[in-house]
Amino acid sequence: MAAQKKRTGQIRLISLALGSATIGQAVLLAEAVQRVFVEKAALVSMVAVFAALLAIMIVRTLLAYANDRIGLRIAADAKRDLRSRLLRALTANPLTLSRQGQAGSKISVTLDAVDEADGYFSQYTPKMIEASIVPLLILAAVFILHFPSGLILLFTAPFIPLFMALIGIKTRQKSEEKFEQLAQFSGTFLDSLQGLITLKLFGRTKQREREIERSSLSYRDATMSILRIAFTNTFALEAIVMLGIGIVALELALQLVVFKSMQFHTAFLVLLLVPEFYNLLKVMGTAFHGGRTSMGAIRNIEVLLAETAEARENKSPNEGLEEAASAGGSATSQETSANISQVPERPDNGEEQQAAVCGGRDTWDLLSSLNPSDRHPPAIELRELSFSYGEGAFELHADSLSILPGQQIAIVGKSGSGKTTLLHLIAGLLPPSSGEVRVNGSPLTPACEEEWFRRVSYITQHPYIFSGTFAENIAIGTDRSVSREEIARAAEAAGLARLASELEHGYNTNVGEGGRGLSGGEKQRLALARAFLKRPSVLLFDEPTTGLDLHTERILLRSISELSQNATMITIAHRLHTIRHADIILFMERGKLIGSGTHQELLNRLPQYADMVNLGPKGGVS
Ligand code: ADP
Repeated sequence: MAAQKKRTGQIRLISLALGSATIGQAVLLAEAVQRVFVEKAALVSMVAVFAALLAIMIVRTLLAYANDRIGLRIAADAKRDLRSRLLRALTANPLTLSRQGQAGSKISVTLDAVDEADGYFSQYTPKMIEASIVPLLILAAVFILHFPSGLILLFTAPFIPLFMALIGIKTRQKSEEKFEQLAQFSGTFLDSLQGLITLKLFGRTKQREREIERSSLSYRDATMSILRIAFTNTFALEAIVMLGIGIVALELALQLVVFKSMQFHTAFLVLLLVPEFYNLLKVMGTAFHGGRTSMGAIRNIEVLLAETAEARENKSPNEGLEEAASAGGSATSQETSANISQVPERPDNGEEQQAAVCGGRDTWDLLSSLNPSDRHPPAIELRELSFSYGEGAFELHADSLSILPGQQIAIVGKSGSGKTTLLHLIAGLLPPSSGEVRVNGSPLTPACEEEWFRRVSYITQHPYIFSGTFAENIAIGTDRSVSREEIARAAEAAGLARLASELEHGYNTNVGEGGRGLSGGEKQRLALARAFLKRPSVLLFDEPTTGLDLHTERILLRSISELSQNATMITIAHRLHTIRHADIILFMERGKLIGSGTHQELLNRLPQYADMVNLGPKGGVS
């Protein structure tokens, strides 16, 4: 509201004019009634009074309209501002924090809560200003006209705000509750939609349906309880107003009929003004109720803004991560180490690459950004990393380790041993609880996320395919604008050319949601095509475990090896071939990095490793 000082000033001025117009209208109406019914004046002589009355009615309507319009303008600006602040806060968050919380509930706050906040700006604020000016003017007029009526108004009026304040506290609390319920409902609903296939496959749709039903019923109950308060509120306000008007009317009647101490004109004028007075207070009451409901919504917006800001200021890195999983944390204990066993023959890494990955625009940054396809792979160093998904949940510990530019790293271990978690820590997708990942000597912090992700491609087992054309889905691999030929070349390098030629509209075929579905292998190849456009200097790869036919697998591996020519590559490896050919193998067991070295070194040193690879791809390498 602070940003709207000028507009609230306008509302004050208009309210002043509105108050005068209200009194003027009552004066003219009383005058007309006095002349026509008491003085029996001829209608022709009344034309001027009627014309003035009509004019003042029009002015009054226009003034009320102007106030409403300004209120709506304030609301539109405020909502735009709130939405853009929310979007900025949500999008500026580093990736690690964006993953926290339910998407559905964030959407609900950004869309519904902001809409609900409308009432505060468009109704509550203008009506409150209006109600703080117009009734005072009317009260002053009534005091001047007839002192005792003024006193009655003065004593009965405070009951209205008092009553409203009592109810308002309850409404705000209920409204916050309502928004919590709505956010919960939206979150559960979106979760269920996204995971519908999984739920169906596991026969859990009925249970989910019940959960959605429960959550929607709680939302209904919260809404109904607010409505209950609203109805009680209206009823009580009406009662107070009627009582107030009744007392004034009784008093006027006594003065007029019994004591004959008053003129009809004055009594009628007071009687016209009194309902206006109460009416405004009543409108204020309704606006107050609406305002309180909106405040509940605004409070939710503030909480989300504060949470995102607080999270960004780097509180504990694990707080807020969803669902603590139960896997064992204690690790077995063979010692490992920080060694680089082999220095492979990789592209030559000049001194420049020691430059920081973020921060100062140094030579290396400049060179690489000028020519994105010619980036030197960075050196990556893990320093005493540890991570936990939350109290009592899975923990990961990895001693220090250096990865030289261009090395091929394979992370191996049983399923659930923490391979993905380690890869996510190296990728900067999860924040370490202690220790750090260093890239070219600089710590990888959320602040340099953008620059870091510009160099990284992560090919997961289930890449996300956006709703759009085949070409658009490849083109998101880079932020440059790319030509159709470049897209086709990337697709070809990733082994997708044949698929594209078989599609009905070639590269213009819609894929992803609502479009043509893609198989797992095709999706991974599409992710590879994105990487070919990007030419990353760090390639993270989650090797497919199952399901690919030999031909697809061969294409995939050929493309990966081509991409890794100029990149540091870290693979969660399941195939013996990949493991054997890695420069360093990181062996994970129950959350601990218990060994690193070449295939031969680990075979000699770690019986668990030997057991796993001897079992072969089916038994151990998962
Ligand atoms: P791997 O890749 O070796 O199969 P992960 O790193 O995916 O293992 O998982 C290691 C452990 O961490 C598992 O026990 C898993 O349940 C747990 N875990 C994974 N993601 C989360 C999460 N978001 N919250 C809590 N626990 C998780």
